[in-house]
Amino acid sequence: MSTDVSWSELARRSLAGEIPSRADCHRVLTAPVEDTLALLDAAFTVRRHHWGRRVSLHVLENAKLGACPEDCGFCSQSSKHHAEGDSPSGEAPIETVEELVAGARRAHAARAKRYCMVTATRGPSSRDLDVVCEAARRIRAEMDIELCASLGLLTEAKAARLASAGIDRFNHNLETSERFYGEVVSTHTWRDRVHTVQLARDAGMSTCCGGIVGLGEDDDDLIDLALALRELDVDSVPVNFLDARPGTPLAGRDLVDPQYALRALCMFRFVHPRTDLRVAGGRELTLRALQAMALYPANSIFTQGYLTTGGASARADHEMIRDAGFELELAGGETLPADPDAVATVPTPARRPSLPVV
Ligand code: SF4
Repeated sequence: MSTDVSWSELARRSLAGEIPSRADCHRVLTAPVEDTLALLDAAFTVRRHHWGRRVSLHVLENAKLGACPEDCGFCSQSSKHHAEGDSPSGEAPIETVEELVAGARRAHAARAKRYCMVTATRGPSSRDLDVVCEAARRIRAEMDIELCASLGLLTEAKAARLASAGIDRFNHNLETSERFYGEVVSTHTWRDRVHTVQLARDAGMSTCCGGIVGLGEDDDDLIDLALALRELDVDSVPVNFLDARPGTPLAGRDLVDPQYALRALCMFRFVHPRTDLRVAGGRELTLRALQAMALYPANSIFTQGYLTTGGASARADHEMIRDAGFELELAGGETLPADPDAVATVPTPARRPSLPVV
């Protein structure tokens, strides 16, 4: 490599708790393709120290679909856009408690560590909270799975209700840098999002907060995002890759280059050595044949698709984890081998068809 810091030295410093310099982050994002394996190896050194060869599966449940009043330019669930095709155009009521519990049973059967209930809203109504909290209590009583909610902006009282119902983690992404945020969202600010993450933590929940690569941001924005998340000290960082939806302002944007996607994951790992780092939405379409390589920097994935789009089935993901020599981590940290045959019949929600792994 043509830099003054080798990738292995970057890994050593990351493990020692040193935050990579902006210059080093740039070097990672612009590394030549010949360095990809060495870079992944360095990122894996960091990941292995904190996470071994463990991979956790997370399952999303779109509990309330569409007609969101916010205008996030990447999102097909905004009422401000005219999403087409497989994108939802009208608001569905929040799912029932029974439907949410049934989703958790599917996630548990897929051997997921975590089940995340998501609503397309600016923030949760009192009725939404009633349903999500009751579902959380029932799921907790019935099965061993960790629970996350992603319900938009919180208040202190709403955060307290969720925490006391057994929601142990709250997701609210910063999405991109503070500088670039106004280019894609106008109905709330980046600071509003930071505030909600802080409220979730203050209520005793762990925090899941990440972003999207490929919105039109530059490398500095991506580095700003990674560093801002480090400063916020979040517990989990989902890194999504834009899968531009028809009818949204970002429709037609190209997928992120797969080599760049891997370098972005490595950069996030060096900045977040201990964090639960997830290769999230857009994984299948962006990485294609390189998906398994994302397990070297990242230690978790979503399985069975995303909020409005399909993804790899649980069977395909178990197969990838097993074939790459990793193992599953369940709720509570227990590990076991991935087992594609055991999850082959777990149903995928109807509106999220499975995509092949490659
Ligand atoms: S707040 Fe969430 S659901 Fe609403 S438009 Fe933004 S990303 Fe989509």
